[in-house]
Amino acid sequence: MSEMQTDAFWMPFTPNRTFKSAPRIVESAEGIYLTEKGGRQVIDATAGLWCSNAGHCRSEIAEAIYQQAKTLDYSSIFNFGHELGFEYSERLIKHTPDGLDHVFFGNSGSEAVESALKIALQYQRVRGKGTRTMFIGREKGYHGVNFGGISVGGIAPNYQGFGQPVKASHMRHTLDIGRNAFSRGLPEHGVELAEDLERLVAFHGADQIAAVIVEPFAGAGGVVLPPKGYLQRLREICDKHDLLLIFDEVISGWGRTGSAFAATEFGVTPDMITSAKGITNATVPLSAVFVSDEIYKTVMTAAPEGAVEFFHGYTYSAHPVACAAGMATLDIYEREGLLTRAAGEIGQYWENALHSLADLDNVIDVRNYGLVGAIELRAPQDLKGKYGAKVSGMAWEAGVMARGIGDALCMSPPLIIEKHEIDTIVDKLRGLISALV
Ligand code: PMP
Repeated sequence: MSEMQTDAFWMPFTPNRTFKSAPRIVESAEGIYLTEKGGRQVIDATAGLWCSNAGHCRSEIAEAIYQQAKTLDYSSIFNFGHELGFEYSERLIKHTPDGLDHVFFGNSGSEAVESALKIALQYQRVRGKGTRTMFIGREKGYHGVNFGGISVGGIAPNYQGFGQPVKASHMRHTLDIGRNAFSRGLPEHGVELAEDLERLVAFHGADQIAAVIVEPFAGAGGVVLPPKGYLQRLREICDKHDLLLIFDEVISGWGRTGSAFAATEFGVTPDMITSAKGITNATVPLSAVFVSDEIYKTVMTAAPEGAVEFFHGYTYSAHPVACAAGMATLDIYEREGLLTRAAGEIGQYWENALHSLADLDNVIDVRNYGLVGAIELRAPQDLKGKYGAKVSGMAWEAGVMARGIGDALCMSPPLIIEKHEIDTIVDKLRGLISALV
C-alpha cells in the first residue's frame, strides 16, 4: 500500500503538524473496542466522543441506513415532508420530559444549540419581549463551535481568536474540588452557586435576557456535575424572571445518566433540550431541539396564516437516512434497556471501580454519575492544565481510550459495557497512574 498522504486533510481540534508526524489511525470498531491500524485493540472508554452509546458498528443501524438510502435518500425541506420524519418525531418525544413535545432537527450539536438560541429569540420577539436578546451561559460550558455556541460557551480557547459575536454573560462554574473531592454522584456542596444567576440578572436586567443555557453536567469542561439542588434553583430563578431555560444534553442525553435525559434524571424540566451524538448512536450526523408546547404554540400562532413561522432550517433537517438511523438506534436502546441501564447495577459498579483509584497519590478527585466519570490527576507544575492530554496519550498506548481534559481523564463508556470490561479499564489505569512521577 502506498504511503498515506496527510497534507490535504485539515484536521479539526487537532495539532495537525504533531499528529501528522506520527498519525494514529483507527481502522475499525466493534462493541466497546477500537482497532488501530496494525491490529491492536483498544477499549473505547469514551464511546467515541460521548456518543456511541450502544457500542460501535451495530449492524441493525447500518442495515437501516442502507435500506433508507436505497428507498428515499433525500427530499427537499421546503414544503415537503416524508413520513419517517413525522413517525420518528412522535417516537422521540416519548422519551423527552413531559411538555417537550416538539422537535426541530439539525445535523450537529452545534446546529442544535444555534437553533435553540434562535428559537429563544423568536419566542421572545413574538410575545412582545424583543429587548430580550442576550444569553446566560456558564464557565466551563461547551455548546459547540458556531457563533452562538462559542458566545454562550465558557471554555476560553473556543472563543479566543473568534470573539463572542452573540451577547452573552457567564455564571460561575460548579467545580469545587476543595469541598467536593471524591463525591459519589451529585456533589453535596455548591447549591448557592445558582445564585450567581441572580447576580447576572441584576446586572444586565431580566428584560435583556432571552435564555439561560447550561449542560446538566458539563462534559467537555471535565465532567462537572451539578451540586444537589443546583439545577432546581436555576429553574426557580428562571421562572421568577421569566427567562427560558435550555439544557444542552448533547452529551448527557440518551442514557448516559441512567434516564433518557438528564433533565428527567435530575428532576428539572427546561423549556428546550438540545440533543445529538447518541441520537443516532453516532452513525450519521443528526441533532434535535426538543421544544416546549408553550414555545411551539406561541411561535406558531404569532405568524399570519400561510407564513413561515420560524425562518430557519438546514438542507438536511430530518434527513431520511439520519431518521432511519435514529429509529434503529431507538429500537436498540429500548429493546436492550440501555436508556436506564446506567441507573442500575452497572452504574454502581462503575462508581465503585472508579473510586477504587482514590488511594493513588496522584489522584486528587474522582467524579461520577451513571456511566460517566472523571479522574482528576495531580499535575506536575509545568504541565498544570494540560496533564490530562499527556496521560490520555499514555492510556491509549496502554490500551484504553480516555479523554484528557485539563488535568483529568474523562470517560463515558458505551452503555453496553460489562463489569469485567470496567475492571480491565480500571486495572490498566491503576498501572498507568501509579507509575506517573
Ligand atoms: N453541546 C455539547 C454539550 C457538546 O458536548 C457538544 C460536542 N461535544 C456540542 C454541543 C457540539 O456538538 P457537535 O460537535 O456535534 O457540533
